Amino acid sequence: MGLAPIWRLRTAPAVAAKAGTHWIELKQAVPACTACGLHQTRTQTVFGVGDEQADWMLIGEAPGAEEDRLGEPFVGQAGKLLDNMLAAIGLKRGENVYIANVLKCRPPGNRNPEPQEVARCTPFLKQQIALIGPKLIIAMGRFAAQTLLASDASIASLRGRVYRYEGVPLIVTYHPAYLLRNLPDKAKAWADLVFAKKTMASL
Ligand code: URA
Repeated sequence: MGLAPIWRLRTAPAVAAKAGTHWIELKQAVPACTACGLHQTRTQTVFGVGDEQADWMLIGEAPGAEEDRLGEPFVGQAGKLLDNMLAAIGLKRGENVYIANVLKCRPPGNRNPEPQEVARCTPFLKQQIALIGPKLIIAMGRFAAQTLLASDASIASLRGRVYRYEGVPLIVTYHPAYLLRNLPDKAKAWADLVFAKKTMASL
């Protein structure tokens, strides 16, 4: 499954150079997408937000109601917590940070993404990652982690190690929406962020 930990990462991936698609094409393709049924129920697509040359890339699951309404990822309650988590390690949305989701459209009623939706949407995320060329990806929650690592393992078992996605170092943490419902796990998420910061410093 390619889940071997990589503790010492020295080279920044040059994935951007390999990107076959450019931002303009991608930004046109996402709102025009009808590859799965979610296009019928979305208000708008939620592309992603932030510094397009960011070292940090955070990836969540899918837009919720607020994100669907405003067209920006993580603007609801979970987004507020995410902003606080970023601040705790000296980061700020949009400043050397890019935030995106696995799915660009809201699943109705915030249901879980379906495998076919994930399969159809993942190429967009892959292109975003290639264009940004982040130094480190943080996969937030089960869907992001399992999708990017092609694994069905739990977050609890995936935390605390460095993986790679398309050559980019990746670590796993809890989803902010999960943390809102499970406050005791906030300490673990804090440990993950400290680990992420340490990992970034070693890259
Ligand atoms: N949850 C996500 O995974 N992404 C968002 O953009 C909002 C909530």
